[in-house]
Amino acid sequence: MAHIVSTIAELRSAIAALKHTSVGRARIGMVPTMGALHDGHVSLVTEAKAHCDHVVVSIFVNPAQFAPHEDFDAYPRTLDADLARLGDAAAIVFAPNAREMYPEGFATGITVGGPSAGLETDFRPHFFTGVATVVAKLLIAALPDIAVFGEKDYQQLQVVTRLVRDLALPTRIIGAPTLREADGLAMSSRNAYLSADERKVAATLNVILKNAILQARRGDLRAAEMAAESALTTAGFDSVDYVAIRDAESLSVIAALERPARILAAAKIGKTRLIDNMAV
Ligand code: AMP
Repeated sequence: MAHIVSTIAELRSAIAALKHTSVGRARIGMVPTMGALHDGHVSLVTEAKAHCDHVVVSIFVNPAQFAPHEDFDAYPRTLDADLARLGDAAAIVFAPNAREMYPEGFATGITVGGPSAGLETDFRPHFFTGVATVVAKLLIAALPDIAVFGEKDYQQLQVVTRLVRDLALPTRIIGAPTLREADGLAMSSRNAYLSADERKVAATLNVILKNAILQARRGDLRAAEMAAESALTTAGFDSVDYVAIRDAESLSVIAALERPARILAAAKIGKTRLIDNMAV
């Protein structure tokens, strides 16, 4: 069972105790999460373990990355099940409350430009400032050697990579592939919101993106994006925020597939917003 801590001071001393061993300095890895852990999260812990000696998992539903109309209150909180799922895979679980992360009078925000422009930001304007601020705080608190983030949240992975480079934080960011259900639906804590009928619609997202990739490789990227958007509506999605083929690193708009590219999408079924992405 992991050592569970809830304050930054406890986190720092638990990490210090693990780091200093009789045979030298142990390497620390970090996996930030919002809990409601599924196999996708566990795969990040496994990936982290391949690069370090001890893994710290943080579990914090970060209020700063939710808009008032979003699902902060409804977001699943399942700490006991999360700890059971992690078992011995994490040495430390950091589960702070909001006051610990945002003390009275908190007035700091970190805004990353570059890869945060467009896509998610067009629909969730405060999202990446909320993410960047909490990720910076977690990384500064733990100072891990590596931190693993999922490609599932591809724009977030690019934003965090940029943040760490720009602030010269002493942590290497590692991206890990998206774990999927048998029908290809990307695992997500939000999949728990879906009814049986909505779950069937959700499974079409990954298939439609794969078809769009084939169409894009034939040349017209904008036509492939548009065809995928209307295929999502036909499949039963209630609204499509975007389907976009972008440069895989900068996420800037591209006219042709000359460098590594990524297709990214966000769409809603009822109140549930799903995102997915793939290499083109
Ligand atoms: P979350 O708890 O949703 O904030 O996610 C925590 C971390 O897990 C993020 O780095 C996500 O990108 C990653 N993650 C979420 N879903 C998956 C998945 N299906 N496969 C791999 N990583 C994932």
